[in-house]
Amino acid sequence: MQEILARARVQVLESGVGLDEAGVREVLDLPDEDLPEALELAHEVRLRWCGPEVEVEGIVSLKTGGCPEDCHFCSQSGLFSSPVRSVWLDIQALVEAARATAAAGATEFCIVAAVRGPDARLMAQLREGVAAIRAAVDINIAASLGILTSEQVDELVALGVHRYNHNLETARSFFPEVVTTHSWDERWDTLRLVRDSGMEVCCGGILGMGESLDQRAEFAAQLAELSPHEVPLNFLNPRPGTPMAERALVQPRDALRAIAAFRLALPRTILRYAGGREITLGDLGTREGLLGGINAVIVGNYLTTLGRPASDDLALLDELSMPIKSLSASL
Ligand code: SF4
Repeated sequence: MQEILARARVQVLESGVGLDEAGVREVLDLPDEDLPEALELAHEVRLRWCGPEVEVEGIVSLKTGGCPEDCHFCSQSGLFSSPVRSVWLDIQALVEAARATAAAGATEFCIVAAVRGPDARLMAQLREGVAAIRAAVDINIAASLGILTSEQVDELVALGVHRYNHNLETARSFFPEVVTTHSWDERWDTLRLVRDSGMEVCCGGILGMGESLDQRAEFAAQLAELSPHEVPLNFLNPRPGTPMAERALVQPRDALRAIAAFRLALPRTILRYAGGREITLGDLGTREGLLGGINAVIVGNYLTTLGRPASDDLALLDELSMPIKSLSASL
């Protein structure tokens, strides 16, 4: 057995202490023949420190496209020639989406907007939307609205938003290659405000944007320092018209190594499959990840790309005998 896996078995599985940056780097470098063992250990860690449940979430876009920022992976930036244009959803459609999400068995419903941060119009829409959903549907409401002021954080708490998503996207050292219109530290500041407010922090990123393995390990360590409740793990799905349109996909084995490594860095976090897993891993890899440290999925469509049908994921969880986390368990 590789020394790093023997060490992780004692430190992470038995004591619940995540691997540091150097340890994550070693896992990212494991030869292919050790990958099954790494995934098995990551799965044991997930079962031991998070339990067998899988958290299911649906997401909806309140405002799509036309964003003034230049995140190079994102087809919602108004600065690229990507075919996504600015569209707003009405409140009735938002409530319907929440209802459909709850009916699919999800406990989380995340309202997302493609903005640098919310303006008065967006906050007003959100206020109305959250109140309408709370009156009609039994589901936890999360939000993802970009960079926040402390007043906006307070308002989200008062509205009853229980979790806030804001992704660091990548390692601090690589971020300037990905975004030039705002900094990693601005994102970090919002995350600290959210954490201090008592809302749950959801913070993840995208692998395969051109970062080195050192930077992948750096990113895992930075997430561990933040200690978020949830980490959505995306794999780059290169979108036409964006500066990353020609990037190669992450190789499936590298993606699985990363899943195991992030789980071993973050033994207690909800590690969620987010965008890009279908084209990166396919059906077989989706299963391997769920048996290798992943314990949450997004059902249905992502923001600008199609995911797998919700029923496929739910059938797979059933087949793997993984119970879906219920609302009472998450409140
Ligand atoms: S990732 Fe968010 S902030 Fe960046 S361009 Fe896309 S919608 Fe805008």
